[in-house]
Amino acid sequence: MDELFSVIIFVGILFLVASLPTTLRICRATENVFWYILFNLIFLFILSYCAVTYYFIASIVNTNVIYIVSCILLAGGGFVYLVTKLSYSSILKIEQTLEEQRFQAEHDSLTALPNRKMFFNSLSHYINRGIPCSVLFIDLNNFKYINDSFGHHIGDQLLIATAKMLQSQLIQPASLARIGGDEFAIILIQQNQYNDEACINKIKQAIAQPLKVGQQSILINLSIGGSHYPQDGENVDVLIKNADLAMYEAKKNKHLFVPYTQALGEKSNETLMLASKLKTAIEQEEFTLYYQPISSAKAGQSSGFEALIRWPQKDGSFIYPDSFIPIAEQTNLILLLTKWVVNQAARDLSRFKANGFTGTIHLNISAQDLQSPVFLKHIVDLHDANPTISDDITFEITESAMMTNIDAAREMILTLNKKGFYFSIDDFGTGFSSLSLLRELPIEQIKIDRSFVTNMLSHSADFAIVESIVFLANQLGCDVVAEGVENSEVEQLLLNLGCDYLQGYYYSKPITLEEALVGLNTN
Ligand code: C2E
Ligand code: CA
Ligand code: CA
Repeated sequence: MDELFSVIIFVGILFLVASLPTTLRICRATENVFWYILFNLIFLFILSYCAVTYYFIASIVNTNVIYIVSCILLAGGGFVYLVTKLSYSSILKIEQTLEEQRFQAEHDSLTALPNRKMFFNSLSHYINRGIPCSVLFIDLNNFKYINDSFGHHIGDQLLIATAKMLQSQLIQPASLARIGGDEFAIILIQQNQYNDEACINKIKQAIAQPLKVGQQSILINLSIGGSHYPQDGENVDVLIKNADLAMYEAKKNKHLFVPYTQALGEKSNETLMLASKLKTAIEQEEFTLYYQPISSAKAGQSSGFEALIRWPQKDGSFIYPDSFIPIAEQTNLILLLTKWVVNQAARDLSRFKANGFTGTIHLNISAQDLQSPVFLKHIVDLHDANPTISDDITFEITESAMMTNIDAAREMILTLNKKGFYFSIDDFGTGFSSLSLLRELPIEQIKIDRSFVTNMLSHSADFAIVESIVFLANQLGCDVVAEGVENSEVEQLLLNLGCDYLQGYYYSKPITLEEALVGLNTN
């Protein structure tokens, strides 16, 4: 019984000994000097506990004092044990939370791939060490369309499936990241056998098969642009800019892969220069409108004009809209340009009317105009100032512009149609419209794209497309305009098919306002 105190102190010592490994782990995890001090103090305690035990055995001490001190020592050992255990588990929890936060900050939550920030960090890491590598920028084409048609859930699943598909095409050392909504990027470390071409070929084979997403099988289409370090840029920003440029080129030309070249860089600089020239030209209203007649097939005479913008140059030449409208769209200048077109057409319209014109003027509007409340307000204001103007104007929207943002297009068309404006779907057949949308919206007219019309004589497939569009338009209660009529044979075919309106070089090229007015007076 007398020796019981030594058992109590021994248990205290056991607690202290058991605290040592945990304290050591904390020391390693925190690298904090105070934990090292504590570690040494525990050793000192153990020695002190042994010394006290020896003292109690060797000396004559009051039994009560011995037991009180023994219990205090036991409690002290237990206290140290609990504190170190609890501290260690808190530290682990904090570390785990930090690790999760770090992962979230550097990874995309949907696909768990590295995100844009981590992609930049990895690329700088290779560049700083002078390791030759390629950057591949990958864009999932028509993702917005897939999202709109199948819903966001399927859209998300498709992104996950695309990420997995891309990941499985990579041979290490290569890393894949998701750098934007539907944009992925790969860093390829240049190694003997495995280069861009090998990687692109593997991706090409993989996307030849549809991806399984829920119940759906979706065939995806990618545009990939590539740049190389150090040939195409010596820092992250330039490499990324060039890969992006190549990717846009791939998208524009519907290629799977386009590598960056110096020529591409020069072309982009020219575009930038044209963009800055365009800005000044809009401010100084350097444009002019040409008018191309649209003839009624039944009456055989002009029923309206399509306004086509021209940019006259100092040397007497013109820059044609196909060269600057896409740049105006990319640089958000299109709205200003369209406003000018509308205002100028309204001014020209008074002159047309003064010369006895009773038809409509067709104006081309872009996808961005269609989504713009500023454009809507501009037209509404114009209508408020001159309420009959809506009888004289038809807006031409391309099929693809309408499909870019269906909801915005629907709202714009319905609002302006209530004011009396007509709408025509331009370049029909080149994009993919939703037929139910065409039935639902007040579309007056469908314009068959000139690529089908021009070749309908020699290409039976084009003839079949024109024939079906005329049929479809009749079913939907829309008029049909065939544009790009260049000879009497095509005209005859179109008349036989029952086309309502005809437009093309066969009747007239686009002409100046003055020429159009002269034409009115001679008819
Ligand atoms: P679009 O709306 O399809 O206009 C028809 C284009 O075909 C015009 O080219 C016209 O000159 C050309 N064309 C007409 N008949 C024939 C033909 O028989 N044969 C051939 N080969 N071509 C014919 P343009 O004026 O160069 O305009 C090109 C495109 O630029 C237009 O295509 C339109 O998308 C756009 N655009 C023109 N003016 C404007 C505008 O004011 N605003 C906007 N947003 N786009 C415009
Ligand atoms: Ca047009
Ligand atoms: Ca057209």
